[in-house]
Amino acid sequence: MSSTEIIIFYTYVHIADPASLVAWQRKTCEELGLFGRVLIASEGINGTLEGAPEAVAEYELRMHALPEFSDLWFKSSIGTGEAFKKLVVKLRSEIVATGLTSDNDVDPNIITGTHIDAAELKQWITNGEDFEIIDMRNEYEYAVGHFEGSRNSTMGNFRDLPKIASKFEDLKKKKVLTVCTYGVRCEKASGFLKQQGFEDVYQLNGGIGTYMKQFPGEDFLGSLYVFDGRMTEQFTDKYMVIGECTACASKTERFGNCAWDDCHKQLLICLNCAPNAKGIWCSDDCMVGAASSVPVR
Ligand SMILES: [Zn+2]
Ligand SMILES: [Zn+2]
Repeated sequence: MSSTEIIIFYTYVHIADPASLVAWQRKTCEELGLFGRVLIASEGINGTLEGAPEAVAEYELRMHALPEFSDLWFKSSIGTGEAFKKLVVKLRSEIVATGLTSDNDVDPNIITGTHIDAAELKQWITNGEDFEIIDMRNEYEYAVGHFEGSRNSTMGNFRDLPKIASKFEDLKKKKVLTVCTYGVRCEKASGFLKQQGFEDVYQLNGGIGTYMKQFPGEDFLGSLYVFDGRMTEQFTDKYMVIGECTACASKTERFGNCAWDDCHKQLLICLNCAPNAKGIWCSDDCMVGAASSVPVR
């Protein structure tokens, strides 16, 4: 397999005609042989694509030629050629499903945390600045890697966002920094905290991936979960595996799923325990749920 490149991008910008943008994306990606996932809503675009570096460069050029995306930031990683099996372009009501409703939804163009870039966060850490990091990713993502000392929002899914404000009551008057993979979830998550009365809210521009690329092996423990065939992204060989197998607690970065079909949540299951995966659940509730859903004959 020749070399490939992966790009991650998003922006919250008003899209006047989302349906025709979907058609444009599909046509352009097919023409360039790009695989991946692009979500489009009237609130913006959110995508990850993989392809030959020349094709990716051409895609970026064509996107930058569109007025809505003239300054779109493409975060780039080295591909594996297997991050995606196909191309999916979808029209959605949100570019990231938040669980927010018309009552509490936030428009990141109006209310969002102050952006700081990776270098600024490095300064905060080096200077011993008084602040807390809230990790806005899901629990299974946090399990395989996170900033040292950061707070786990313990979301099962980003749709749990409306429930998390009460978990961080103690931080309402503190300086807080939200982080996520490459930044998109923080746009609304940080805005949501502000809406809920948090007074001093920042978000990490470009997300954890950008920080890890700039400061590999520093301040972040473990590796970065990503939503494609790679499962995790590493930025250095010198890192410690911090993920622990749900069943035996040995160190692992191998993901499986909760054995209860109704849950199917991702969880860490090591290679040794993999053959017994049908008896590994993410919680006691799921164990009980699975037992009670076994058909009685
Ligand atoms: Zn195990
Ligand atoms: Zn479960």
